[in-house]
Amino acid sequence: MKILVIEDEHRIANYIKKGLEVKSYIVDVAYDGATGFDLADGEKYDVIILDRMLPSMTGMEICRQLRTAGNHTPILMLTAKTQLEDRVEGLDAGADDYLGKPFAFTELLARVRALSRRPQKQVNEVLQSGSLQLNPTSFAVTRTGKSISLSRKEFALLEFLMRHEGQVLSKDQLTEQVWSYDSDVLPNTAQVYIGYLRNKIDRAFPKEKPLIHTVRGFGYKFGVTD
Ligand code: CA
Repeated sequence: MKILVIEDEHRIANYIKKGLEVKSYIVDVAYDGATGFDLADGEKYDVIILDRMLPSMTGMEICRQLRTAGNHTPILMLTAKTQLEDRVEGLDAGADDYLGKPFAFTELLARVRALSRRPQKQVNEVLQSGSLQLNPTSFAVTRTGKSISLSRKEFALLEFLMRHEGQVLSKDQLTEQVWSYDSDVLPNTAQVYIGYLRNKIDRAFPKEKPLIHTVRGFGYKFGVTD
């Protein structure tokens, strides 16, 4: 397993490198954006850990350019900015997951493991679950060919659910991924938005099998069930 860390704060970069090496990962580090991009573009990595704010080329630019060049290596973006807009912007740029600074190393490790295990669904690929389709590039969502209109938050939530099809996701996980803990988010926000999505993608299509399932006491699971 080979990981690329692109992070200009030497202390954090070296902390991540040492921690991952203890876990037997092979780690390359770049301390600025342009060097990081060249490595990411030229070598084959299993996961890229990418800081958002970097000298010479930002994390967003690196993300966008890699995806445009057809590089679909999973990217975990590190960001001190945990507001919704930044996350949505990052998802648009092609990042696969986020981690807000400061973070616990065990959390970073868990995210890296999850990303490396995941079948590499191409970021620009149209996602499909049963008769539901989501196009991450054009933001189009359809079910049985009929267009569904979603807000940005609903779209981000649905994309996250579709990329984690079959997994049980807690309300906290959804809140953290789509809204982040430190923005003005209420404890029931994820639940409320799940309700909006249900109305639009399931209840509006009564002949189709529901895709959003409540797992009592845990959270939600997305996907086609028998
Ligand atoms: Ca930085």
